Amino acid sequence: MTPSSGEVDADILVVGAGAAGLSAALAAAGGVAALSGTPEPSASSVRSRGRPDSSVLLLTRGHLGRDGASPLAQGGVAAALDSGDSAELHALDTVLAGAGLSREDRVAILTTEGPGRVRELIGLGARFDRDASGSLELAMEGAHSRRRVIHARGDRTGAEVTQVLSRAIRRLPSITILEEIEAEELLTEGGRVCGLRVRRSDGSAGALRADAVVLATGGLCHLYLRTTTPRSTTGDGIAMAMRAGAAVADMEFVQFHPTAMAVDSDPLPLVTEALRGEGARLVDASGRGIDFPDESGELSPRDVVARVLWDLTRAGGEVFLDARDTPGADFPDRFPGVFSLCRRHGIDPRESLIPVTPAAHYHMGGIEVDEEGRTTLPGLWAAGEVASTGVHGANRLASNSLLEGLVFGARAGASARRGLPAETDEGDGRRPANRDRVVSPGPDSISAPDTPEAGRNPGKPDEAALEADMQSLRAILWERVGVVRDAGGLREAIDAIDQLAERTLPDSVPGRRLRNALQVARQIAVSALAREESRGSHFRRDFPITRTAATP
Ligand SMILES: Cc1cc2nc3c(=O)[nH]c(=O)nc-3n(C[C@H](O)[C@H](O)[C@H](O)COP(=O)(O)OP(=O)(O)OC[C@H]3O[C@@H](n4cnc5c(N)ncnc54)[C@H](O)[C@@H]3O)c2cc1C
Repeated sequence: MTPSSGEVDADILVVGAGAAGLSAALAAAGGVAALSGTPEPSASSVRSRGRPDSSVLLLTRGHLGRDGASPLAQGGVAAALDSGDSAELHALDTVLAGAGLSREDRVAILTTEGPGRVRELIGLGARFDRDASGSLELAMEGAHSRRRVIHARGDRTGAEVTQVLSRAIRRLPSITILEEIEAEELLTEGGRVCGLRVRRSDGSAGALRADAVVLATGGLCHLYLRTTTPRSTTGDGIAMAMRAGAAVADMEFVQFHPTAMAVDSDPLPLVTEALRGEGARLVDASGRGIDFPDESGELSPRDVVARVLWDLTRAGGEVFLDARDTPGADFPDRFPGVFSLCRRHGIDPRESLIPVTPAAHYHMGGIEVDEEGRTTLPGLWAAGEVASTGVHGANRLASNSLLEGLVFGARAGASARRGLPAETDEGDGRRPANRDRVVSPGPDSISAPDTPEAGRNPGKPDEAALEADMQSLRAILWERVGVVRDAGGLREAIDAIDQLAERTLPDSVPGRRLRNALQVARQIAVSALAREESRGSHFRRDFPITRTAATP
C-alpha cells in the first residue's frame, strides 16, 4: 500500500551509504546491468526482476563513500577465490566462529555468493592487491583455515570498496543521492512502513515517502567508551526499527577487537589482525610473549584474545604488538594505513612496540531479517551491520562483514525492487526520485511512533549536557556490558541507563541520538542478562560454561 496521498518521493529509499547501503541502492536500481544499459543482468550479477523504472533515494547523514565504518575497513574481504579453497570450507570456518548460533542456510548464501560479488567489484574497477604473477594476494586472518582475505592498497580495503561502489551509484540517473540528512523515525501506515521522517542539516524537519525502505545504518559500537567505530555508529537504525515494531535478534553479541591502538583518540585506531597473521606478536611491557589458552595462540578467535588482554590490563598490565621483526621494514608497504596511524600518534612500528587494548568493534545482532533482508515489518528491509542475518551467530569471523554488506545488501535491494507494487494503468507509471521533495510530515493516516518528549524543550538544546550523558552511557557499557559480564554488573547497567533515560530529551539531532542510544544500550544489557551462559563474544563470569544446546 502506498501512502494515502498517493504520492511517493521514490519507489525505494535506502538509508545509509556504507558497503551495505551502496550495494542495496545499486541492486535496487537494477544491479550492474543498469550501468551498461543491458536489459538483463549477466549470470553472476544481482537478479533484478521488477519494475524497470524504479527510482531510488540513497540518504546518508554524511557523504557518499566517506562516512560510516565501511571506508575504515582495513584487513579485507573474505571470499573463497583460491583453487585450494571452497565456499564449503569458508562456511565451516564461519559456523565454527559463530559458536553454534550461525544460521547455516544464510552462511551458505554468504560464502557461495561472496566470490561473485567480489568479481562484480573487480568488474566495476576495484583494484585489489595482486602478486607478481597477477593473481589476487590472499591474506591469512584469525580462525580462517585458508588464506582467503583479499585487500586493496595494503590495508585500505574499505575505502576502495566504497569508492568503487559510489562511482557506480553516481553513474545511475535513477538513484538520487541525499547527503547530510538525518533519518529520525520510520513512518508507517496500516502496519506497513511507508517512509521516513528526516531532518536536514539546517535543522528543519521533513518526510520522505517510499514503497520500500532499506535500513543500512551500520552498527552500534560507539556506544562503548573504547571502540574502533565512528561516531555515527550508535544504533539509530535499530532504535527506529524497534519503535516501529520490528523484531531484533542476538543483541547481546558484541565483538571486541583485541588490538585497538591504546592512544588518546576516539574512536581508537584499529591495528588490523592481518598483522598478527603476518607474524607480529602480542607481548607484555617486558617484551615477553602472552600466553593463550587456545593452541592457535595469537590467532585464536577474537573473543579469546580479547578476554586474555582484558584480564591482563584489568590486573594493571600493559599489552603491545611487536611488529619490529615481522613485517618489520616492510610495514609501510604492506600496511600503509596502520603505519600512518602509528606515525600520527608518534609511534614508529619498525622500531617501537604498538600499545594495544581491546575495544568494541562489531555488533553481530540487529534487526531480524530473512535471507532477502526482509524484516518482520512489511515495507522494511535491513542490511549490513544494522541487520541480524544470522550468519555471524555469536561471533563474527574476521573480514566477513564487508562481505555480508555486499551479499545481503544486494539481496535486500533486489528484493525491495521485486516487492514494488505493479505499475499503475494511468500515465507511464514512472516515479523519478525528486530531490526537492523533502516534504513536511504527511497526512494523519501516516504515523511515526509517539515522541512525547519532542518539542517540550523549545530553545537551544543543552548539547554539552547531552554529550556528558552520552559519555556516561558509553562508560557504563564498557565497564558493565563489555568483554566480561555478570548479573550484578548488568543489573547495575540497566538501572543506570534507566536513570539517564528519565531526563527529558530535546527534539534535536543530539537529543534523538541519545534517546536511540539509551534504547539500544538497554536492549543489549537486557539480552546479555537473559543469556545465562558464555557463548562466542558473550562471556558471563557467573556462567562461564557454554550450554550444550544453542538457543537463539
Ligand atoms: C576500523 C575498522 C576496521 C574494519 N575492518 C574490517 C575489515 O577489514 N573487513 C571487514 O569485513 N569488516 C571490517 N570492519 C567492519 C566493517 O567495516 C563494518 O561492519 C561494515 O563496513 C558495516 O557496513 P554498513 O554498510 O552496514 O555500515 P556503515 O559502513 O557503518 O554505514 C552506515 C551508514 O549509515 C549512515 N547513517 C547511520 N545512521 C544514520 C541516520 N540516523 N541518518 C542517516 N544516515 C545514517 C552512516 O552515515 C553511513 O553512511 C571494520 C570496522 C572498523 C570500524
